[in-house]
Amino acid sequence: MNARSPLMDSHGRVMRDLRVSVTDRCNFRCLYCLPETEEAARFYRTQFTPAAEEAAPRFHREPAWKPRSEILSFDEIERIVRLAVGLGIEKIRITGGEPLLRRGLEELVTRLARLEGIRDLAMTTNGFHFGDRAEGLRKAGLQRVSFSMDSLDRENFRRMTGRDGLAEVMASIDAARRFGFSPVKVNAVIIRGLNDQEIPALARFARERRLALRFIEFMPLDSGRAWQRELVVSGREILSSLQAEFELIPITAGQHPSETARRWSFAQGEGEIGIIAPVTQPFCGHCNRLRVTADGKIRTCLFSVVEHDLKSWIRGGAGDDELADGLRRVVLGKELGHRIGQADFAQPERTMSCIGG
Ligand code: SAM
Repeated sequence: MNARSPLMDSHGRVMRDLRVSVTDRCNFRCLYCLPETEEAARFYRTQFTPAAEEAAPRFHREPAWKPRSEILSFDEIERIVRLAVGLGIEKIRITGGEPLLRRGLEELVTRLARLEGIRDLAMTTNGFHFGDRAEGLRKAGLQRVSFSMDSLDRENFRRMTGRDGLAEVMASIDAARRFGFSPVKVNAVIIRGLNDQEIPALARFARERRLALRFIEFMPLDSGRAWQRELVVSGREILSSLQAEFELIPITAGQHPSETARRWSFAQGEGEIGIIAPVTQPFCGHCNRLRVTADGKIRTCLFSVVEHDLKSWIRGGAGDDELADGLRRVVLGKELGHRIGQADFAQPERTMSCIGG
């Protein structure tokens, strides 16, 4: 194996996409992610069953954030990304927690944007602090941004995120367009009884603003561990609710098999919609993604139950060749697919906000 041979797993999948979490902290308390609020407890209790009852005490616990010393420094992140790009990674997505809570993020973006070989440098954010930072991030070299926005109704937005922040997120979406981020994507996690009635309005919003709106199935990665199959609105249901109102045209051109979303354009108007259905229509067969958590663990799947401690290799003095060999070894063991719905499914210990979505 030569020094630059790509990261290939034992199922023949070559890794091209690395998601880098820069912090485990978040300023939102989304019901489906870090639901430490009264509202979350009430919602789950009124919706469902013993699992939610059992989970209720967990809704009132502030997450235990990692101390600064355990979080990868910018030097460490830059080194990991440079190494990964040398091994065939082409797409980098900065995420969290909420990435904009990481002080000096613009500096990290500047450093990553300078690395040769990155075809796509993107970020996922809840958008609350993005408006003021859009210009600086664009200048630093960030190319694309995806916002998480699950509701267009102020009260429902507050219920879902635990924050009264819809106006700020809307302003951020406008700022992203003004400063030339392209395409601007908006992700909405759809949960039965919470925002499924907003599916058509969210699509209308995408058409009016000429955005890419992604509807995402609710996955069992919430810190309250109150996920239940009944709360998942399937991709098929989402599609039929959209088709009741819009004439949609499947987008196939340029669609890469590793893409997570099935996409449609509107017969009338601009913008597009996508559906990401990891629970009911898994797309693991073409998965080419790896994740690095804020505290320096490599994960080969969102649902991995094992992590690999890259940070301790780095802090232990490993050279680049050693790290590259370590990464290759880890990737060889990448899971064939997640096991949601199987009898042996186990929710990973760490939750979405700690893993980095
Ligand atoms: N704070 C940033 C944000 O809000 O986009 C980045 C991190 S967040 C964990 C990344 C993405 O994960 C968001 O789009 C969020 O909606 C999604 N997410 C979190 N928990 C989820 C769950 N249980 N099921 C599906 N998507 C989830």
